[in-house]
Amino acid sequence: MYTKKFIEALESKDLKKLRSIPKSDLHNHAILGGNLKYIEKWLGKKLPRLTKRITSIEEMEEWVNKYYLPYIKGRSGFEKAIEAAFMQAKTDGVIKLEMSIDVYFRYLYNGSAEELIKVLKKLHQKYAPEVNFIPELGFNRSVSQELLIEWFEPYLDYNYFKSVDLYGDEFAQPANNFKRLYRIAKSKGLKLKAHVGEFGDADNIQETVEILELDEVQHGISAVKSKSVMNFLQRNNIQLNICPTSNYMLSRVEKIKNHPIRKLFDNGIKVTVNTDDVIVFQNGVSEEFLLLYEHKIFSAEELDIIRMNGLQ
Ligand SMILES: [Zn+2]
Repeated sequence: MYTKKFIEALESKDLKKLRSIPKSDLHNHAILGGNLKYIEKWLGKKLPRLTKRITSIEEMEEWVNKYYLPYIKGRSGFEKAIEAAFMQAKTDGVIKLEMSIDVYFRYLYNGSAEELIKVLKKLHQKYAPEVNFIPELGFNRSVSQELLIEWFEPYLDYNYFKSVDLYGDEFAQPANNFKRLYRIAKSKGLKLKAHVGEFGDADNIQETVEILELDEVQHGISAVKSKSVMNFLQRNNIQLNICPTSNYMLSRVEKIKNHPIRKLFDNGIKVTVNTDDVIVFQNGVSEEFLLLYEHKIFSAEELDIIRMNGLQ
């Protein structure tokens, strides 16, 4: 499906055509997933771009807190940011969007999970009804498990969210601290994901997958440093949802040309290509595919396999 057109679009480096081809985005942080130009149009002013590479999540958070979050405060700001994320997905040809909403956001609606879900449904229907939106709940790794469970539980009555993800500072707390939270999510049939192996090493990845019983990993690029961890991921069919530009801008890879996604793919691991935070890193999924093609990391045919991985 669309294979020929996708290959042609890559070979002719035709971004517009690439955007018209169905893709997925399975690693997307919702309020940071929006189209910056769309936000700027709404604000009536230009916002700064992240133009140089940074080295930590902390540095990224500082940047976001300074240059972006002040503009998307409160309910109206949150809803505009979500609207911008839906618009970004739609204009990028993303037809499957697994987008992560922090569990805490129900507090924007007096703690009501029902109200937050209503808002998300409304925005999805209004701005991107053609996109298969798969709502995901995000847990900030710096928050205690007790509190995360308290924030999480009210959502479970609605069967709206389909997956969970642990994100933020990878070293804030060990995976063991979230075991109970993940058991609850699993018992409710949610897909289990977590950020690991972005800053942490290969062993962290296997350990976290085993402790939390993960189905998929956000990033996981450090697996490349261990043949046995790569084998483990391949054997257990653990998909890595990778974000090349984010990895480059956060100095996780020295050069795009040497991105580990190639070696992970060659070791039989199922990989997908995603955006992480479009507001910060500026690239949609189409740009990410083109980037990997232009740096000759993959052939157009291989990138189509990766595109289809995400759509399965
Ligand atoms: Zn992420």
